[in-house]
Amino acid sequence: MATVKDFRNDVRPNWCPGCGDFSVQASLQRALASMGKEPHEVAIISGIGCSGRISGYVNTYGFHGVHGRSLPTAQGVKLANRDLTVIASGGDGDGFGIGLNHFMHAVRRNIDITYIVMDNQIYGLTKGQHSPTSAHGFKAKTTPAGNIENALVPTQIALAAGIGFLGQGFSSDVNQLVSLIQQAIEYKGFSLINVFSPCVTYNKVNTYDWYRENVVNLDNRPNYDPADRATAMRTVIETHGLCTGLIYKDDSRVAYEDQIQGYASRPLSEADLRLERKVFEEALHEFA
Ligand code: SF4
Repeated sequence: MATVKDFRNDVRPNWCPGCGDFSVQASLQRALASMGKEPHEVAIISGIGCSGRISGYVNTYGFHGVHGRSLPTAQGVKLANRDLTVIASGGDGDGFGIGLNHFMHAVRRNIDITYIVMDNQIYGLTKGQHSPTSAHGFKAKTTPAGNIENALVPTQIALAAGIGFLGQGFSSDVNQLVSLIQQAIEYKGFSLINVFSPCVTYNKVNTYDWYRENVVNLDNRPNYDPADRATAMRTVIETHGLCTGLIYKDDSRVAYEDQIQGYASRPLSEADLRLERKVFEEALHEFA
C-alpha cells in the first residue's frame, strides 16, 4: 500500500519559505495515502499561479494547464477515465477571476472531482497585484490607495450556485485540512475545498496571525449542521466567509456521470474507439 513517501517526487518546490501552499501539498499527500490511493490512480490538474505548480510536486499523473482552465481539463479527464481520482487545483486569481465561469458551471454540472483552491487574496506569481478575493481597502501594487472593489466570497458563490460539498481550510491546521480533503474526495460529485493559504511575500495583511485572529472554526460548534443549506449560507454571510471546517454537504445530489445512460459500464479510456475502415471510407465519401 502506498505511503505519503510514494506521493513525493524529486522536484523541489520553489515556493517561498513559509508559503501556505507547502501545507496544502503535504495535506493532499497525507489524505491520498491515508485513503489507500496509489499514485497511478490519481490525476492532479492545475492552472497558473504559484499554487498551480502543485501538479508537478506530487507523484501522481499531473497536468499544468493554462490560466483559469484547470476545471474544464479536470472534468474531461474524469469523464474519459472515471476510475481516476481527479483533483483540480489553483489559486484565487486563477479560479475566481480568470476561471470563475468554469467554476460556476462545474458546480452546476456536478462531475465527481475535487477542486482545491489556495486562496491568499493576492496574485503572488506576478508579484503582488490585488485579486478577486482581496478585501475592500486592501493596498497592493495595483491598488496603492486601497482596493475600491468588493471582495468575492468563494463560499457564498459556491452555495448560491448549488454546490453539493463545500469545505474551507487553513494552511496552519493540517489535521483539519487532511480530513476535509479526504471527505471531499469521498464525496460523489463536485467538491470545493477553499484553503486560506497565506502569501508571506506579498500579502502583509492576511498573514497566519491575521487568519488565526479572524477565522471561526466550525469544528468548535458542536451543533452546527452541515446538511442545512440555509444555515451554511447564513454562516458564511455572518462570518464574511471567514470560517473553516465542513460548511455544507448535500448527499442527495447525483453526479453528472451517474446520469449518463450506459456510462457506468466501462471507462471511455478503455473503450476501443477505432473506426472500421468501411465506416471511415463512408464518412470520407460523405464529405468529399
Ligand atoms: Fe507563496 Fe506568495 Fe511566494 Fe507565491 S509569492 S510562492 S504565493 S509566498
